[in-house]
Amino acid sequence: MRRKLVAGNWKMNGSLAANTLLLTEIKSGLNSNPDSAICDVAVCVPAPYFAQCQGLLNGAAIALGAQDVSSHEAGAYTGEVSTSMLQEFDCRYVIVGHSERRAYFAESNELIAQKTVRALQAGLTPIVCVGETLAQREAGQIDSVVAEQLNVVLAAIAVSDLAKIVVAYEPVWAIGTGKTATPAMAQEVHAMLRKQLQVKNAEAAAQVRILYGGSMKPDNAQELLAMSDIDGGLIGGAALKSADFLAIIQAA
Ligand code: PEP
Repeated sequence: MRRKLVAGNWKMNGSLAANTLLLTEIKSGLNSNPDSAICDVAVCVPAPYFAQCQGLLNGAAIALGAQDVSSHEAGAYTGEVSTSMLQEFDCRYVIVGHSERRAYFAESNELIAQKTVRALQAGLTPIVCVGETLAQREAGQIDSVVAEQLNVVLAAIAVSDLAKIVVAYEPVWAIGTGKTATPAMAQEVHAMLRKQLQVKNAEAAAQVRILYGGSMKPDNAQELLAMSDIDGGLIGGAALKSADFLAIIQAA
């Protein structure tokens, strides 16, 4: 049985004041609801707020995560943030290969695989994002695009690390658009991804959590999360509103 994970991706949003308010509300929402302990919760925040959020989350059942990490260990890489820096702030998760990184920062499957390996070496849990664009979906290329994105990562990691990754299926056309994959559409891709993981190792594949991301909201979360291969959500916009984020956690 896989424990569900609901992870917020704040993207480039937040401020010291807004983060305090948001995390205080989420913490008190979780504390007042004993059911919420049945799933894992994380917030992936902008790097300048690691210290603040680490303090705010102290003692809470909410893990801290990053939205990206360098593939390099340390050195002359201006602007990069290393895994050891993430560790110093108790980050447990790191998103790698988000479609915005792929599209706006030209991140390749190979670079994303290197980041995944680096995160695993540091004992962090990489949330590896895959997903097709609308043009690729309309051209019938969903399986080939998504399979290739995952394959490059799978080829780079050790079998013993397979169960340590989280995969997020995020159809690009559903991110921030209000359009969501139907539960059946998402489940089909998730099942395909699970089969791909099984080729590497069947036992570990059964443990890998595959999250859905793309306009997940309180009103669609329950039916998406009810699908057999959807093990949680990677939440963008709705993670910035405490009531919405708490409602999705509740649905999980
Ligand atoms: C995301 O960016 O990972 C995401 C899923 O965003 P949204 O929920 O806003 O579509």
